Amino acid sequence: MTEEPNNDTSAACKAPGAQEKAIDVAVIGAGPAGLTAGLYAARAGLEAVVFERIAPGGQLAQTEHMENYPGFPDGTNGFELAFSMKQQADRFGVRNVGEEVLSVDFTQNPKVLKTAFNEYRANSVIIATGARPRKLGLELEEELQGRGVSYCATCDGNFFRDKTVMVVGGGNTAAGDAIYLSRICKKVYLVHRRDKLRATAIYHKRLEDLPNLEFVWNAVPRKLVADEGALAGVRVEML
Ligand SMILES: Cc1cc2nc3c(=O)[nH]c(=O)nc-3n(C[C@H](O)[C@H](O)[C@H](O)COP(=O)(O)OP(=O)(O)OC[C@H]3O[C@@H](n4cnc5c(N)ncnc54)[C@H](O)[C@@H]3O)c2cc1C
Repeated sequence: MTEEPNNDTSAACKAPGAQEKAIDVAVIGAGPAGLTAGLYAARAGLEAVVFERIAPGGQLAQTEHMENYPGFPDGTNGFELAFSMKQQADRFGVRNVGEEVLSVDFTQNPKVLKTAFNEYRANSVIIATGARPRKLGLELEEELQGRGVSYCATCDGNFFRDKTVMVVGGGNTAAGDAIYLSRICKKVYLVHRRDKLRATAIYHKRLEDLPNLEFVWNAVPRKLVADEGALAGVRVEML
């Protein structure tokens, strides 16, 4: 039974899979991975339904400028690229459902997907729900995202070429990102709340050998300082 909202942009407005026939492939998440999965399934002649709780494009739609997507020598706008991915999937008949999938019962066949509004049945389920960065939770953090605050060194490192950057954390991601950034940035501060890293031992020596890396132990970022809408500094508390 369809209750609301479904938001299906295709002609039929019934909840797909809510009727007798199950959906061939239900994809959860309409980020790049989910839209790609939907596209491939639809092109293979399967009925593909992509569920998205916010808006198509996922994290890609929040990216102002992408430099590392092949085929765009001058880079591309993430939102526009996401929109093109969605259009391409639509062209092959992928159906979109604007609902958050709250649970999937994999013990049944077909599988049963529940949203706040409907229940769907699907023969296959592809989970493409992406990942979310763990944020610092500081004031101005949202506003400064893409203006100095970044959650992906390999994505955004090039924007900080020859600049001074700070990496926060002590795990493998922080260590790997700090090594990556040390190759392109003037100086890298690695700020960690403890006096030693959690990262795998192999990273320790590599980090210690970097001439432009400085550890800031027992420290926590407390305030982002902005200047003309961009990050200008970070105030750190020494514990
Ligand atoms: C600011 C920013 C800049 C970036 N810059 C770059 C870059 O320059 N180059 C690069 O290669 N990468 C970049 N990335 C990373 C890139 O965007 C991600 O790697 C990519 O979007 C991951 O795609 P995905 O489809 O796996 O997941 P996501 O993009 O995270 O999409 C997952 C989708 O699933 C939806 N979803 C989750 N749970 C449910 C549910 N239960 N029901 C329904 N829907 C659900 C989410 O709302 C989301 O839309 C950037 C990311 C950000 C945030």
